Amino acid sequence: MYRIEYQMYKKRTNTYNSYLCFMIEDQLEKLKRLLDKPATVVIIPHKNPDGDAMGSCLALQGVINQLGHSSTVVAPNEYPTFLHWLPGHDKVLIYENNIKIADELISKADMIFTLDFNTLKRIDQMGVRISESNAKKIMIDHHQEPDNYADIMFSNPAMGSTCEFVFQIIEGLGLLKNIDKDIASCLYTGIVTDTGSFRFPSVTAATHRAVATLIDAGAKHSQIHEKIKDNSRPDRLKLLGIALKNMVFIAKHRVAYIIISQDELDACNYQKGDTEGFVNYCLSIAEVEMAALMTEHKKDNMIKISFRSKGDLAVNVFAKTYFEGGGHINAAGGKSEKSLQETEAYFLKSLATFLS
Ligand code: 5GP
Ligand code: MN
Repeated sequence: MYRIEYQMYKKRTNTYNSYLCFMIEDQLEKLKRLLDKPATVVIIPHKNPDGDAMGSCLALQGVINQLGHSSTVVAPNEYPTFLHWLPGHDKVLIYENNIKIADELISKADMIFTLDFNTLKRIDQMGVRISESNAKKIMIDHHQEPDNYADIMFSNPAMGSTCEFVFQIIEGLGLLKNIDKDIASCLYTGIVTDTGSFRFPSVTAATHRAVATLIDAGAKHSQIHEKIKDNSRPDRLKLLGIALKNMVFIAKHRVAYIIISQDELDACNYQKGDTEGFVNYCLSIAEVEMAALMTEHKKDNMIKISFRSKGDLAVNVFAKTYFEGGGHINAAGGKSEKSLQETEAYFLKSLATFLS
C-alpha cells in the first residue's frame, strides 16, 4: 500500500512545486513591500520547537532587526536546553509562561511570521490569537498540505529545512550581505538538525551551497555540532541504554522500534530533548527501512511517536493515516492516547496493513 501512497504523495508534491516556482517571485515582491516601512513583528515557531524552528525564527529576527523593525520571537512552550546557546535565546518569550504580554504583542503586531509549521492548530490557543490579529501573516514552511491562513505563503515540502528556505528568502530579498555570524549559526543549526546531519534525501547541492555561504559568514560547523550533539547528561546516556535494550526488530517488515515508559523516563530524570536522536539508532540497522520511537508522557496523557524511514517509504503518510500526525517523507511524528500496550498492538496492526 505504501508505494501507491508514496506515488500519489510525490505527484501532489511535484504539481505543487511547479506552482511554487511560479509563485515565489510574487511572494518575495509582496514581502519586500511589507518590509519597506518600520513595523512591529512577531515571529513564531511550532509547539515543542526544534533546532529548525528556533534556528529559523532567530535567524529571521536577526535580519528583520537589522532592517530597523522591532521584533519578538514568541515560542508556544519551552524548547530543549541544547538549543539555549542560540544567539537571541535570552530574549525569546515563552507563550505559556507569558500569555498576557504575548497576546498583546500578537494583537498589536503589524506582521506575524509563522515558521516551520503550516496549520495554526499546531500551536493551540496561540493559533486562535493569531487568527484574530489584524497583522499580515507570513508562513515560511516545508511541510505538506498547508492551511490557508497566511497573506504571504512560502511553502515548499521539497525543502529540507525551514532554515534553508529562510536562507533562500534572504537571498531573494537581496540581503545575503546581512547574514552575520549569529544569523549564519542559527541557519546552520536548523539545516543540520532537520537533515539528520545532511543525510536525508531532501539535501541537495543547493543545501550545500547555502551551507558554504553560512560558513563563509562565520558559522563554526564543528562548534555547533558539539553544542548540539555533545552536551548530554550521564542520565541521558542511561536512558539511551534502556531504549536500546527495549528495541524490537521485526525482520519481515524491515522495521525496528523502541518503547520508553514514563517510569523509565523518571528513573533517568528525563528532561525535554533527552530522547532526541534515539529513533535513528533503529534506522542504523542495515535491514531496517522504517523506525519508530514511542515515548509515554503521562502528564500530557499521550504517547508521543517519532517515525523515520529510508528511501521512498513515506512515514508522514503512515503518521497521518494512523497516528493523527504528519511531517516529511523520511521524518514524521504523531501521537496516541491509548496505553503503551494498546499503542504497540495498534502500531503492529497498522504496519501490517501499510506495508502489505
Ligand atoms: P520528531 O519525530 O523529531 O518529533 O518530528 C519529525 C517531524 O515530524 C518534524 O518535521 C515535525 O514537524 C513532524 N511532526 C512531529 N510530530 C508531529 C505531529 O504531531 N503532527 C504533525 N503534523 N507533524 C509532526
Ligand atoms: Mn523543519
